[in-house]
Amino acid sequence: MAGTSVLLTVRPGESGQGYVLRMASENGLRGLPFVKSGLGRSRFHTLDADDAARISKWFGAPEGELAEALGHISRDAAKTGFSYAGQEIGRSYFLNRGRPRVCPRCMSQHGFCRAEWDFVLVVACPRHACLLADRCPVCDKAVDWNRPSLTACQCYSDLRGWKAQSVVPPTLELAFAQWVSAFVTPGARDEAAVENTDGAGFALLRLLRPLSLGAGLSLTYALASACQYPLSGGGQRVKKKTSLLHGRQVLQAADRLVQRIAQGERIELRVSQRPVTVALLSEAMTKATCPEDRSIALSILGSVLRQGGRTKWSGQYGQLSQLPLF
Ligand SMILES: [Zn+2]
Ligand SMILES: [Zn+2]
Repeated sequence: MAGTSVLLTVRPGESGQGYVLRMASENGLRGLPFVKSGLGRSRFHTLDADDAARISKWFGAPEGELAEALGHISRDAAKTGFSYAGQEIGRSYFLNRGRPRVCPRCMSQHGFCRAEWDFVLVVACPRHACLLADRCPVCDKAVDWNRPSLTACQCYSDLRGWKAQSVVPPTLELAFAQWVSAFVTPGARDEAAVENTDGAGFALLRLLRPLSLGAGLSLTYALASACQYPLSGGGQRVKKKTSLLHGRQVLQAADRLVQRIAQGERIELRVSQRPVTVALLSEAMTKATCPEDRSIALSILGSVLRQGGRTKWSGQYGQLSQLPLF
C-alpha cells in the first residue's frame, strides 16, 4: 500500500466513487463490489455521502471531504437538495453515476477519475481535446464501476491504453466540459491544454458563463426541452439518458436554440414539454446565487409562459435578444 498520506485523500476534482475504486485497487481489494459488500450494500448500489463515514475509516480520507466527493444524490437528499462535488444540483438526472465515462489520456497521465465525467452533459475532455469513452473497445461492454481495478475493464484490458477520439477545438462539447470543470476542479482553467475553449464562440456558453453550475445545468436542460429534445431529429428517441449521445444532443439542441434567439430569429417551438421546461426554469431562478441567474431564467420563463395553451407557436424572445449578453 502506498505510504504517503497525500494519496489517501481525495484528489482535487476526483469523483467520490473513483476515489473509493482507486483506494480499493491500491489496497489489493477486488474493486467496488468488495467495498460495497463490506458496507452491506448490493453491487448495484451507487456510493453516496451516506457511506462516507465508514469508508473514510477504512481508507483515510477526511469524512467531510469524501462526503462532498461522493455527493448527496440519494433519495433522502431530495428533501434537502442534491449536491455533487460541493455544487448544488437541481436534478439527480443531471448526473450519471451509474455509467462511468473515462478519458483514457487523463487516466494514463493523472491516474484518477474526474468528478466532471459524472455529469451527463460532459462528453469530452478539455485537457486532451478528445471525447470521453464509456465503452470498452476490446470487449465492447459498457465501462463499469464494478470493474476489477481503477484501470482495468472487466475483460482486463487496460483502459489507459484505449485510443481516445480526438476532436478539433473549439467545439461546444469541449467548451461546455471546461465550464463544468472550472466548478468541480480547483485550478482547472490552468490545466486545460485546449485553448480557445472559453466558449465565447458558442451562444450557449455565453449565456452560461455568469451562472452557477446548478442554475446553468437547469437552464441548459430547459432550453433543450423547450425545443422538444429528444423528439427532434426525425422523431428518433434516445432511450438511454446517461448515454454520451444523449449528452451531446441536449447540448446541441440548447446551443442551437440560444443561437436562434440571439439572432432574433422567429422561433417555432412545440411546447408539449412545457411543464418540464417551466419547472427547470423556475429552479434555475429560485436557486440563483447571482442576479444574472435570476434575470436570464426569468426572461426565458416569461417567454415560455406567454406561449399560453397553444401547442405550437411562433414568436420572438424579444426580451431575451435585447439582453446585453447577446
Ligand atoms: Zn483527459
Ligand atoms: Zn473490456
